[in-house]
Amino acid sequence: MKVLVPVKRVLDYNVKARVKSDHSGVDLANVKMSMNPFDEISVEEAVRMQEAGTASETIVVSIGPAKAAETIRTALAMGMDRGIHVQTDEDLEPLAVAKILKGIVDAEGPEIVILGKQAIDNDYGATGSMLAALLDWPQGTFANSITKDGGALNVAREVDGGLQTVKIDLPAIVTTDLRLNEPRYASLPNIMKAKKKPIDAKAPGDYGVDTTPRLKVLKVTEPDARKAGVKVEDVATLVDKLKNEAGVI
Ligand code: AMP
Repeated sequence: MKVLVPVKRVLDYNVKARVKSDHSGVDLANVKMSMNPFDEISVEEAVRMQEAGTASETIVVSIGPAKAAETIRTALAMGMDRGIHVQTDEDLEPLAVAKILKGIVDAEGPEIVILGKQAIDNDYGATGSMLAALLDWPQGTFANSITKDGGALNVAREVDGGLQTVKIDLPAIVTTDLRLNEPRYASLPNIMKAKKKPIDAKAPGDYGVDTTPRLKVLKVTEPDARKAGVKVEDVATLVDKLKNEAGVI
């Protein structure tokens, strides 16, 4: 069973995003970029499937600028077999990404595509479901655990207050949630080995996808700064403030 894992290069989750002075977006000049954390979880899951003998081949794909090749190398160092780099300097919207991924699925024939539930840069949380719709495949979203069950997968999904397990026929789309696993660190020998693993170079045009944006970002702003708190004398004052100032009780 072939497993395809799309990974996105995003602003590192430890870095505080700075908004550009013209409010057109987030300033990405000279800041640390890393693999989207949910995609690290997808890579870990695919590598575990291979170690367990469930997956026969694991392929990582990233759609992005030249530097996205580093993100692919990271996934290869974690244990993925080979990479596909669809190079573009545009920041593509989920529909364009999903259409390119459909082209890759048609060419490679994986039985499972494991995506992150969302990319932490734009928080769209849309690509997995769009790909499922384009392929007309079932999807198990917000996965907390994935187990193969014959020609199907049992996916335990994180829902409010608990888990919901769905059984979906293969081929299928899965999107990963935070508690699915703990991604490994790549060891030095594996980082060295990853340098020799193949990465196919592609372009959006190879899949006949029109990447013209359909959304227009009007303005990006920082959240309001948090106001300083106040100390109250006693419970009666607290209740009075909650009632008459904050209006929450
Ligand atoms: P989003 O819908 O943008 O929040 O992204 C959800 C998931 O889609 C990510 O976790 C990735 O698995 C995948 N994805 C989104 N954009 C890209 C990209 N440019 N290259 C590869 N995978 C992507």
